[in-house]
Amino acid sequence: MGTAKLSDLDWVDIDQRHIWHPYSAINASTPVYPVVSAHGVRLRLQDGRELIDGMASWWSAIHGYNHPVLNAAIQTQSQQMAHVMFGGLTHQPAAQLAQHLIDLTPEPLQSVFFADSGSVSIEAAMKMAIQYWIAQGHQHKHRFLTVRNGYHGDTLHAMSVCDPVNGMHNLFTSVLPQQYFIEAPQPAFHETCQPEHLLPLQQTLAQHADNIAALMLEPIVQGTGGMRFYSPGYLQAARDLCDAYDVLLIADEIATGFGRSGKLFACEHADISPDILCLGKALTGGYMTLAAVLTTPQISQTISQGEPGVFMHGPTFMANPLACAVANASIELLLASPWRDQIAHIEASLHQRLMPCLHFEQVADVRTLGAIGVIELHQPVNMATIQPQFVERGAWVRPFGKLIYLMPPFIMNDQDLATLCDAVVEVVQHLSLDNAG
Ligand SMILES: *Cc1c(COP(=O)(O)O)cnc(C)c1O
Repeated sequence: MGTAKLSDLDWVDIDQRHIWHPYSAINASTPVYPVVSAHGVRLRLQDGRELIDGMASWWSAIHGYNHPVLNAAIQTQSQQMAHVMFGGLTHQPAAQLAQHLIDLTPEPLQSVFFADSGSVSIEAAMKMAIQYWIAQGHQHKHRFLTVRNGYHGDTLHAMSVCDPVNGMHNLFTSVLPQQYFIEAPQPAFHETCQPEHLLPLQQTLAQHADNIAALMLEPIVQGTGGMRFYSPGYLQAARDLCDAYDVLLIADEIATGFGRSGKLFACEHADISPDILCLGKALTGGYMTLAAVLTTPQISQTISQGEPGVFMHGPTFMANPLACAVANASIELLLASPWRDQIAHIEASLHQRLMPCLHFEQVADVRTLGAIGVIELHQPVNMATIQPQFVERGAWVRPFGKLIYLMPPFIMNDQDLATLCDAVVEVVQHLSLDNAG
């Protein structure tokens, strides 16, 4: 029988020949590195090398890898049940997680919908907004308003609110629903939002609010669509404008949720509550795929009282008990940790260590917020040549376009952070020299 274990060479070869990686080609020439285990902040490659992880597996592994508390949560839950359908059944891990999320997020958010990935939670949020208006007889309020440089996921409706150019989805423009786009929020995080910064938002709402179900935003931190940090004043004003024009506000905190920006949720920087909130990524501490959509009783009840009297969504693996159990453990671990201090320390260290890159001619900007450090270059990086340079220096960093960015696990100590930042500064410095020469 074909049960022989694949040799090391075999499985890497199978990958190379048959498997798609994110945004990649089959038979790609850019390397993928075989990883055999991960512990704390280190990834261990098949050849024995260890890399300090600067990515937290795309914002998610906030406690690092192979954490005993999170491992135990999965093991314990797997002895009860790994999964059970959520239609007509419920379980303690889901109820516990809903209670945690309600307790931690702004007070008006009281109704929880569990989804299986960030993109699916965005789809559910958009459907919620549309159903909310249909339930009140506003069939035409089904389009969305959003800002440029956004990223909200890879499924079709999520793609329609991603930046049309940076969002990697311009190929699909003709098949996507057409949404309203305005310029990205202009005032930077520490700047004051001026009336003129709000004109595009105000004008679009004034003209089109009758067709707009919701404004979709990543609060404060725009992630993959540009790694920009914008003024809390802008978010506050956006909240007020949405109320004034009868448009819902959807906050996509899939990347920012659970401390990454220095607050537990980025909306706290502006002290606002969205009408609909999407969470994902760090929700399970990076262990399993799970997302959640929270909304207000007013919205959930309006949907439930309108036609057809139910919210029209229900994934097969909705509220998977293993994922809910590890999410509960991750949230409890986070709240019991000195996360504010850890993130403040990471922010100060990233700032101090990355700022020297501003002097390199290749570098357009360096910015930090919370446990996020960004170096924006003038030119896109060549992934095939830059990725091995980080690996040679013992760092796992995955740039994207013109952006080299770090979002380490919150548990990273200063020495590892120094090694990671030194690797980035060295690689960026050599890029400058290459270009100058
Ligand atoms: C990653 C991300 C998504 C999509 O989540 P997936 O789990 O990859 O589907 C949506 N919005 C933001 C802000 C993200 O960072």
